[in-house]
Amino acid sequence: MSSFTIQQSFSARFLDLKLKQVRLAHPEQSLPSPPSSDSGASSSSPAEGDYFLRSLKECLEIYEEPSRARSDSLALLSDEEVILLANNGKIAAYALEKLFGMSELERAVRIRRALISRVSSTKSLESSTIPFESYDYSRVLGACCENVVGYIPIPLGVAGPLNVDGTSYPIPMATAEGTLVASTSRGCKALNAGGGVTTVLVGDAMTRGPAIDFPSVALAGQAKAWIDSEQGHAILREAFESTSRFAKLKSLKTAMAGRTLYVRFATSTGDAMGMNMISKGTEKALDAMQKRFPEMVVLALSGNYCTDKKPAAINWIEGRGKSVVAEAVVPGDIVKSVLKTTVKDLCNLNIKKNLIGSAMAGSIGGFNAHASNILTAIFLATGQDPAQNVESSMCMTLMEPTGMDGEDLLVSVTMPCIEVGTVGGGTVLAAQQGVLEMLGVRGAHPQQPGKNAQTLARVIASAVLAGELSLLSALAAGHLIKAHMAHNRSQANSPASSLPVTPGARL
Ligand code: ADP
Repeated sequence: MSSFTIQQSFSARFLDLKLKQVRLAHPEQSLPSPPSSDSGASSSSPAEGDYFLRSLKECLEIYEEPSRARSDSLALLSDEEVILLANNGKIAAYALEKLFGMSELERAVRIRRALISRVSSTKSLESSTIPFESYDYSRVLGACCENVVGYIPIPLGVAGPLNVDGTSYPIPMATAEGTLVASTSRGCKALNAGGGVTTVLVGDAMTRGPAIDFPSVALAGQAKAWIDSEQGHAILREAFESTSRFAKLKSLKTAMAGRTLYVRFATSTGDAMGMNMISKGTEKALDAMQKRFPEMVVLALSGNYCTDKKPAAINWIEGRGKSVVAEAVVPGDIVKSVLKTTVKDLCNLNIKKNLIGSAMAGSIGGFNAHASNILTAIFLATGQDPAQNVESSMCMTLMEPTGMDGEDLLVSVTMPCIEVGTVGGGTVLAAQQGVLEMLGVRGAHPQQPGKNAQTLARVIASAVLAGELSLLSALAAGHLIKAHMAHNRSQANSPASSLPVTPGARL
C-alpha cells in the first residue's frame, strides 16, 4: 500500500469514527443525508472535531480514477462517501461485494446495512441487533445469498448420542423450540437401551420433472413412447450422465396431460443434495430429445412433476432423495422407566393419532407426530435447504408390541424423501461444516461418493425415530405440559410451543 493510500484510508476510518461519534452524541438525530448534489459538502481537509464529507464530485473523481482498480479507489473513500455515491446512483447496492473485492466483504455488508436502513421506515437495521461482524462472507458470495446484511444465529443443541447402525452419533439440532432437544434426547436414551437403531436405505435418487409442450397429443404420445423405449432411454441417459461424474440416471417416469408431457428424471447425485446437478443433466437430456422432436417446447425445467418443496403424492409413493426405514426395539421395562408409559398405551395412541387421525385428515405422508421438528432442526444445523422439509418430513411412524408376550415395543419410521447433501448449498458455510464434521460426514466421501449424504439421512431418520418415541410417550403419559413448563420456566409469558398439548388418554 502506498503512503498516499495509507493516509487516505486512515482518514476514511477517522471520518467513520467521527460519524459514529456524531451518532452517539445525537442519537435522536439521524445522520445527515448525503447531499444529492455536490454543492453542499465541504472539500477541505478533515480537521479534528469537524464533520467532513467530500463532495460528490470529489468522491466521483476518486472512484472513477482510471489508473486505479475500483477496489483501491473505494479504499480511499469513507463509508459515508461510498453511501453518497450509492445514493446518487453511481454504485449499485447489490454489487458492493464485487466492487470492494474479497478482502473487504464485511465493509460491503456494513455499507449495505446503512443504505437499506436509511430508506426504511424504521431506520433500525444499521444499529440493530442483527449480527454481521466476524462472518466468513467469502463462502456466501455467489453461492448462498445475495444482498447480504448479516446472519441469523439460531441456538444449536445436541441430543443423544444415538446409536445408529452400531455407531454413536451426537444429534445436532438448531432450534428455538424449548423441550425439543431434551425430548429427542430422552428418545435416544430409550432407543440406546434397546441396542440402538437399525436403518435401511431403500432408495437414493433426486428428481426433476420438466413440462414439455407438443403441437398435438399424437406427437406428445410418440415422445412418451420414445422415452419409454430402450433406445430413447439410452440416448437420454448418455446425454444426462455426460454432465457430471456423480449423476447416474436411475429411472424416467412419463405422464401426459393433454398435449403436455411430464418426464420425471430420477438420479443418484453422490454426496450432493443434487438439485443443481440434476438440473444440468436434465437440460442436456432435453437438448438431445429436441433433436429427435424439433417441435417440442420445453415450458419449464421444473414442471412440478419433480416435486420440489411442495406437498405431492408422487414423492410419498416414489420417493425423492434418500428413502430410509429406521427401526428399533425398546424393552418394556425401558418404556416404563425412561418413557413413563406402557407399550399398550403407546401402540394404541400411535394407531389412533398417527394412522387413523392422519387418514381422517386426508394426509399424504403425514402419518407421524412431529418428524418435521427433528428433521428441520438437523437441516438447519447441517446446512440443508430448509424449504425441502416439506417432502423430507414425510414419515410414517409404526408401533407394535413385540417379544415373547408382547412386552417390548417395536417402533419404526419410514421416510421416503430425505433430501440431504454434504457438499454444495449451505454445507459450504463454516459453522454448518463444523456440525457435519462432528458427525463425521463433512464434504465428499473419499472412497464411496454418496456415502456421507446417505449416512446423514440415516442419522436424521434415526433421530426422528427418537423424537417420535419421546413425544408419543409424553402424550400417552400426559407429561407434555409439565415438561414444557419445566424447560421454559425462565421465559415468562413465552408464546405457546408448536408442539401439541393434548395429553393422550389413558386406557
Ligand atoms: P447440488 O447439486 O446439491 O445443488 P452443487 O451443484 O452445489 O450441489 O454441488 C455439487 C458439486 O460438488 C458438483 O460440482 C460436483 O461435481 C461436486 N462434487 C465433488 N464431490 C462430490 C461428491 N462426492 N458427490 C457429489 N458431488 C460432488
